[in-house]
Amino acid sequence: MERIRRGEASREAFMEGIRGFVKDVVGQIKASAPAAAARPPSGPVVGDCPRCGSPLHLREWEGRHYVKCAATRDPECRVAYETGADGKPADLCRLCQGPLRTTKAGSKVCVLCGAWASDQPEGLPEPGLCPGCGQPMRIIRSTTRGQFFRRCAPCGTVEPLKLP
Ligand SMILES: [Zn+2]
Ligand SMILES: [Zn+2]
Ligand SMILES: [Zn+2]
Repeated sequence: MERIRRGEASREAFMEGIRGFVKDVVGQIKASAPAAAARPPSGPVVGDCPRCGSPLHLREWEGRHYVKCAATRDPECRVAYETGADGKPADLCRLCQGPLRTTKAGSKVCVLCGAWASDQPEGLPEPGLCPGCGQPMRIIRSTTRGQFFRRCAPCGTVEPLKLP
């Protein structure tokens, strides 16, 4: 900076320096990230991650419980959500029955299907059992806002969900 003010270095050289600096910083962040992810979470295992199947560790923070995925099967998995003291999800997604997590902004979002709790209508009917194979069905959201389907994963049956 000092040299630029004195006009001894070209703007190009200055930008070159910035680029080098940014590259160094990004390199340091990349180098430190795997170490942080590899640190195993503490706390008892209370089940498997609904997204990747890794162990879920029950943890306590300021008197509240939450679980965190150990990410042993999928190092990219960042599943974590609030639970009771027993490790059961505090809130469930009305669409897929997946656990809801609370964002920093205080909204709730499903860790499985990504639906916001505010987008999940009250009084959605139970998806019920599959007419084809009798397995429990799940509600899925249509790409059209406000429309829902029910789907059976085992046999692939999909039908529109009749809203009350
Ligand atoms: Zn996971
Ligand atoms: Zn969901
Ligand atoms: Zn079925």
